[in-house]
Amino acid sequence: MTAKTTRTDSAYDVVLIGGGVMSATLGALLKLLQPDWSIGLFGRLDDVALESSNAWNNAGTGHAALCELNYTPERADGTIDISKAVGVNEAFQVSRQFWSYLVESGIITSPREFINPIPHMSFVWGAENGDYLRRRHEALKDHPLFAGMRFSTDPAQLKQWMPLVMEGRTAGTPLAATWIASGTDVNFGALTHLLVHFLTQQPAFDLKLGHEVEDLTRDASGGWRVAVRDLAAGTRLSVGARFVFIGAGGGALPLLQKTGIPESKGIGGFPVSGQFLRCKNPEVAAHHHAKVYGKASVGAPPMSVPHLDTRVIDGKPGLLFGPYAGFSTKFLKQGSLWDLPCSIHMDNIGAMLAVARDNMALTRYLIQQVMQSNQARLAALRDFVPTARAEDWELIVAGQRVQVIKKDAQKGGVLQFGTEVITGANGSVAALLGASPGASTAVPIMLTVIRKCFAGELPRWESKLKEMIPSFGGTLADRPELCAHVHDWTTRALQLEG
Ligand SMILES: Cc1cc2nc3c(=O)[nH]c(=O)nc-3n(C[C@H](O)[C@H](O)[C@H](O)COP(=O)(O)OP(=O)(O)OC[C@H]3O[C@@H](n4cnc5c(N)ncnc54)[C@H](O)[C@@H]3O)c2cc1C
Repeated sequence: MTAKTTRTDSAYDVVLIGGGVMSATLGALLKLLQPDWSIGLFGRLDDVALESSNAWNNAGTGHAALCELNYTPERADGTIDISKAVGVNEAFQVSRQFWSYLVESGIITSPREFINPIPHMSFVWGAENGDYLRRRHEALKDHPLFAGMRFSTDPAQLKQWMPLVMEGRTAGTPLAATWIASGTDVNFGALTHLLVHFLTQQPAFDLKLGHEVEDLTRDASGGWRVAVRDLAAGTRLSVGARFVFIGAGGGALPLLQKTGIPESKGIGGFPVSGQFLRCKNPEVAAHHHAKVYGKASVGAPPMSVPHLDTRVIDGKPGLLFGPYAGFSTKFLKQGSLWDLPCSIHMDNIGAMLAVARDNMALTRYLIQQVMQSNQARLAALRDFVPTARAEDWELIVAGQRVQVIKKDAQKGGVLQFGTEVITGANGSVAALLGASPGASTAVPIMLTVIRKCFAGELPRWESKLKEMIPSFGGTLADRPELCAHVHDWTTRALQLEG
């Protein structure tokens, strides 16, 4: 259908592209900091949180490095490097503080709608892996951010922590696990809805769903003209914005490329899709109460570490296993097969080819994952749940992640698994690329956007930011008293006791 062109005069201080947890978080932060600014949120689907932020499209782990072994690599001398784990935990504490503020100020009335306490565990088998886990525990256990972490190789203790995982397991293989009570399951879809609901109650906020952003061009005043298509009406709008946040998840890279800013050059994207096995038998699901993370296979990207996850969605416990990685050229779950080919430009093709050449182990891993049979998926599940029966589990398709490919002077191009905030044009535009540690760190990532794009407003906003996030501007690890206060406050406010 050819779209009719309708020019409108609508103009906002801030345009948020995408109805996921990132846009919702930035919108809420900005509305609390500067209530008189006008904000328009444009999402291409008919509701918010239908892509990666949806509860069933991700694993819902409140990533605090309590159980994810990829954040604690072993150094050449055998010691464990915990610096990344501390950073990831610090970032999650920032999110916890903002969410606690939202609860205490009545913006969110029932935190259990989106966050629930679920112990986090790491689980390995084999003597060498067990020894690594023991050393990891030694390195973390006295750190204030990891207080309460326990380690065991005793089958009786492991059975108490994870009965489903121990049931039907034959003796002989050495097993080891860590357990920590302060882990969480987060329903990022529910959180997105709560944040957007708050925004819709505020003056000068427009929610435009079923509206796809097609193009971005600089205007004479230093802001942007945003070309939007109303998908139901088939009309096109031209919207003005002083600042644009491209929070379009997998769809962020093509929009960033359309800005034409120098910072967008040379960046490519590599999509990795995911599938989970979801337990259909409530009796089996009720027999497990933890998020149990294992070790990644050789060549597997860090986010493909297998894990068995208790979920709490709409107040009901659920159980997920995975993710199994997959490959599709789509950048969004509800995207187009042309997404990847259309993102290849003269400025990024070199970096993309270099990444293809240098990541053969990843390529082999993805091919093996894509080709694997239901039997092979069940075998992987049985490493965690030896008694698993095929009829109790169904395969579901998770969200799409687009890993960032960047130019590299030595290698030509590198593949990154983290999150990247790209800003440009004097702070009038920011885009979020990548997906890890993901939604858990939505608040610190959006604070990075604020720091980079609103440096002039920061002095004015600082006291409000400190009211909402007491650790703002510093870290907790070096302030034990504040660390203890934040832990107690957020545990109480978010109802995470017990
Ligand atoms: C398999 C998997 C497991 C994960 N597990 C975890 C986990 O355990 N813990 C964790 O913290 N994170 C996890 N993540 C990451 C987390 O889901 C993402 O980081 C987060 O949801 C990204 O939010 P977002 O708002 O950037 O994107 P999304 O939620 O994907 O939202 C993007 C939005 O933009 C819209 N959009 C796209 N293009 C346009 C356009 N042109 N115009 C208008 N709207 C557009 C989309 O429709 C969508 O509404 C996981 C991700 C995956 C895929």
